[in-house]
Amino acid sequence: MYNKGSCQCGAIAFEFEGPYFLTFCHCKICQKIHGSAFAPFLHAESKTFQWLQGEDLLSYFNSSSYLRRTFCSKCGSNMPIVSHELNHIAVPASVMDTFVEQQPVAHFYTSSKASWFCINDDAMQYETVPPGGIGEVYERVKNAP
Ligand SMILES: [Zn+2]
Ligand SMILES: [Zn+2]
Repeated sequence: MYNKGSCQCGAIAFEFEGPYFLTFCHCKICQKIHGSAFAPFLHAESKTFQWLQGEDLLSYFNSSSYLRRTFCSKCGSNMPIVSHELNHIAVPASVMDTFVEQQPVAHFYTSSKASWFCINDDAMQYETVPPGGIGEVYERVKNAP
């Protein structure tokens, strides 16, 4: 099944196929960039990801040496982080147009969680990132009962 999303002004649209899982990132960079308590991201493999339109309107910001954030240069909506090198995408869940049927499976960077936000679900919590990287979450989700 194809999952589709777009920016607020509609200039940029994308799709990707297959399963994903949802995490909330509470790091300070995500808080600033998303203007929110945390950033909800859908994680999936990058191989089926494609921009449907407006790729030339993307702006980029490298928040670390390996993490290239993207946003619409017209409306400022956060767009997917795509790494074909790592075969991984992180898609802001709130720009999806198709229904997101999942609940969050993990919280990252709870050590910098906004003081005014209260986590009230039973998803896994990591003070920073999982020691085994995002792959560790993949495995735990896959093997969950
Ligand atoms: Zn836009
Ligand atoms: Zn973050």
